[in-house]
Amino acid sequence: MSLANLSHNFKVVQKHVGSSVVCAVVKADAYGHGAVECSLALEKAGARWFGVTTTDEALPLRAAGVHSRILLMTGFWRGEEEEVVRQNLTATVWEPGHLALLERAAASQNVRGVPVHLKIDTGMGRLGASLEQLPALLALLQSTVHLKLEGLCTHFASSEIVDAPEMDRQTERFAAAERMVREAGFSPDILHLANTAAVVSRPESWGNMVRPGLALYGYTLPLQRDGKPEPGGTPDLGLKPVLSWKTRILSLHNAAPGQALGYGGTYVAKALSRIAVLPLGYADGLVLRLSNRGRVIVRGHYAPMVGRISMDLTLVDVTGITDVVVGDEVILIGASGASSIDAWEQARLAETLPYEILCGISKRVPRKYNGG
Ligand SMILES: *Cc1c(COP(=O)(O)O)cnc(C)c1O
Repeated sequence: MSLANLSHNFKVVQKHVGSSVVCAVVKADAYGHGAVECSLALEKAGARWFGVTTTDEALPLRAAGVHSRILLMTGFWRGEEEEVVRQNLTATVWEPGHLALLERAAASQNVRGVPVHLKIDTGMGRLGASLEQLPALLALLQSTVHLKLEGLCTHFASSEIVDAPEMDRQTERFAAAERMVREAGFSPDILHLANTAAVVSRPESWGNMVRPGLALYGYTLPLQRDGKPEPGGTPDLGLKPVLSWKTRILSLHNAAPGQALGYGGTYVAKALSRIAVLPLGYADGLVLRLSNRGRVIVRGHYAPMVGRISMDLTLVDVTGITDVVVGDEVILIGASGASSIDAWEQARLAETLPYEILCGISKRVPRKYNGG
């Protein structure tokens, strides 16, 4: 894990969005990179807001000494409201129950001005209050004594799709929500809408805070138009991958022509082959779909995965790579010499997204950090 690259990415994104605040999204253990380590490094790089999913994700950050604001992007469960107030977590809210619980907790702790961020569902069809529900929520907010409407937010469904009509509709609904909020006498300081794809390509959507996750870890989504890659390409911010994934060769053997390899014999050696056994599998987050599709780097050369990836072991064909011995370093994600593999390559081969590749690397894989 290169914390130097993480800091670099944060600074690049911050520069790109100018005066907008960057809320660094570190949910899902910072997309598998380690939320505590990444948050501390990001705080050093200047981050003052973090986005997590749940209270459970926020508490370890507080315990590790993260002092910045922490936004709970999917709200909180009943029973967590006292902790939310006590730990100065900032809840995203979208239903009356949220307001009632927080108001009671704030009153019991005698804290005023507890900030809430109101989430509007502008068309994603996932979380948030609809425009129809908004007046009732605002009336309830007006009746509270201890809460402050600090933020107004929404989430885009298709920000990487340049010609998506939904994008305009979502933006219009958000503007309508903002008007309703202001007409009701509120003046939220913070408007935030943009994830990585919108940060990269839609300055008009930035508001005064943005919520990038993927970009901080060095990846973006390619822009699309007409269902194909945007002819103009995707803006290159100069992001650098933070994570590399390495293992070592556990065992080596020869496979004779006709020898089937692994469960189900899904691969049969065509010629005499040198097979390396790697001590990891899908229990480590190596996606099963990479079986007979993915590759690794051994001594600067690509070696294809052969046979079905199993829970703890994976086979690669190192035929023709000289001097390979047990214990040699093997790169699953990363670069060596002229060879490189990134999370996008694995994602495409496995028909998924880099998000799933990165946050799928399991707890069994020890994280190591340098730089920062
Ligand atoms: C995950 C998430 C983000 C960050 O998305 P990226 O595409 O990784 O930048 C932003 N906002 C919300 C509400 C999210 O759930």
